[in-house]
Amino acid sequence: MVLVYIDQADQQIKKASLEAISYGASLAKQLGCAAEAILFGNVNESLADLGKYGAQKVHQLKNEILNSLDVKVHSTLIANAAKNLNATVVVFAHNINGKALAPAVAVKLNAGIVTGACSLPSTQNGFEVRKTVFSGKAFAQVNIQTSIKVIAINQNSFGIVEFNSEASVEAISLPIPAASIKITKVEKMEGDIPLTEANLVVSGGRGLKGPENWGILLDLAKALGAATACSRPVSDADWRPHHEHVGQTGIQIAPNLYVAIGISGAIQHLAGVNRSKTIVVINKDPEAPFFKAADYGVVGDAFEVVPKLTAAILKAKAAN
Ligand SMILES: Cc1cc2nc3c(=O)[nH]c(=O)nc-3n(C[C@H](O)[C@H](O)[C@H](O)COP(=O)(O)OP(=O)(O)OC[C@H]3O[C@@H](n4cnc5c(N)ncnc54)[C@H](O)[C@@H]3O)c2cc1C
Repeated sequence: MVLVYIDQADQQIKKASLEAISYGASLAKQLGCAAEAILFGNVNESLADLGKYGAQKVHQLKNEILNSLDVKVHSTLIANAAKNLNATVVVFAHNINGKALAPAVAVKLNAGIVTGACSLPSTQNGFEVRKTVFSGKAFAQVNIQTSIKVIAINQNSFGIVEFNSEASVEAISLPIPAASIKITKVEKMEGDIPLTEANLVVSGGRGLKGPENWGILLDLAKALGAATACSRPVSDADWRPHHEHVGQTGIQIAPNLYVAIGISGAIQHLAGVNRSKTIVVINKDPEAPFFKAADYGVVGDAFEVVPKLTAAILKAKAAN
């Protein structure tokens, strides 16, 4: 059986988990076994609907202390559930929670692990999983040798597959270990779309010259309903908050659309955004390295191009 961990925040299932279920269900089909999912805490969504993405059964451990992630507690519960349910593969999304949980679960199960997987395993020669390495610049084939395997799948690398069935939902009973941390305060940013969850991201670099010019970028982001990001020198100079910094040393994202405005496309920046589905680059220098990674590029002055793009988007929206 393939067991998929479902990640939630604020009682909403994260989009990355739907992809992880689709991956787990496709893998289960390949292996000729069932795909089941496990979720902790309470969510405001129908768990039976997870059948749409291929889960045949959803095991839920409802307890509000499990609504927030405690890696020690959650990894122990997932490993114990995997043992009780005889799971042979445990799948995670390679997002912020999956990156913390997957290795801890692998240790507890004595399982071989591949993080950052980007396709279904080949089972012709053992169990070989393709993963990205060197910040997405290369691929490695990793053969997992253990009987239980743990895989964390890169966001946007497999896609969401519709299976159009309904999952049965069952309460799972497991002893909950003592908490290792206590969350004393949560401060949420208001209004912002969280970068890691955003489908659309508009990002700015040093080409925008200064924080006073960010209005054109914010207008475009608002027109698109996009989250905002920036290059490292921009956050280092305090033009934008540090939580917007994307790249090798910042947040790594994989939205459907990444619009890069006045960003050169240095390798360290690309390391955080090159898994985006569609990349649009606006840069006045036709030799800017970012154009090599772009799906669409506009060679032009951001101060002329961006307001025109925003006006065109608003016009198209008004017409629909
Ligand atoms: C160890 C290490 C880690 C790093 N980690 C990161 C990281 O995580 N993220 C990151 O972003 N960087 C990172 N960097 C820095 C990285 O190497 C680059 O220096 C940085 O990404 C450049 O930022 P930028 O593209 O905004 O600025 P610049 O390199 O200055 O590029 C500005 C771009 O704007 C264009 N431009 C100028 N005026 C206009 C205009 N009017 N209209 C349109 N385009 C215009 C220019 O042609 C140029 O391409 C790291 C560096 C190191 C050494």
